[in-house]
Amino acid sequence: MRTLAALALALATTFPLQASAETLCARFFDVGKADATLVSFPSGEHILIDAGKNGDGKQIAATLAAEGIHLRAMVITHFDKDHVGGADQVLDAVPVDEVLIPGYAKESKQHTQFLEALARHPSTRVTTLTRGEAREMTLGTAHLRISAAHRDSYGRDEENDFSLACRLAYGKTRFFFTGDAEDTRQKELLAEGDVACDVLKVPYHGRLVHASGAFLSACAPKIAYIFESEKEPANPALVEHLEKTLGARVFLGSRDGEVRVFSYGTRVFTDRD
Ligand SMILES: [Zn+2]
Repeated sequence: MRTLAALALALATTFPLQASAETLCARFFDVGKADATLVSFPSGEHILIDAGKNGDGKQIAATLAAEGIHLRAMVITHFDKDHVGGADQVLDAVPVDEVLIPGYAKESKQHTQFLEALARHPSTRVTTLTRGEAREMTLGTAHLRISAAHRDSYGRDEENDFSLACRLAYGKTRFFFTGDAEDTRQKELLAEGDVACDVLKVPYHGRLVHASGAFLSACAPKIAYIFESEKEPANPALVEHLEKTLGARVFLGSRDGEVRVFSYGTRVFTDRD
């Protein structure tokens, strides 16, 4: 029989991992150099931000279906294949009330599959955000603001700068999801303000762009997750800036895999604590 002390220790170790009615959870999936984050709110609602590559879709969709998840929204930050690739499989696997997307033209196999899946599920509302538009969502006591890029062109090969950004506030804690924002978009986000956060989904797979130093310093996260892989690792200078200069705790997809970050509204912690 367990002693009281052993029981207390077991409770103390396991308690932070249990999602209680008051706990918000951001679950960064193990998808390598691709993006997919499930945010589960204390209200019982769920939002998926990006859906990984085509090859990740099956696992993400199966996980959501196995847990009986109904998505209040799926945000596709932009249409690169490592963000939209699994979206069609998610749409086919679980109910999705609304899909939020940026407004720019795209032609790719993955984007076409996404559009075909939307056509199969006409009850899913599609909201396109363009030129600085923002969408506010209230989920219980949490608040989500999804904002679009300011311009309608970023030149050739610059579709990363169309990335929708998601600012999430729960109690005193802040989460910031930045898609693949590169130089121009990071500067836009800095100009918008409200970038300071406890938890940052580091933009653009941890690659270094001109604005990165100023951007990361303004965000000043306590916890940073970088979706990257051994083949396409984060820039070491960027990781060092986060860890040494800013004192952030950095999680790397290639080393840490799936990580869950929780908030009680007053503080953030992870499933590695
Ligand atoms: Zn990407």
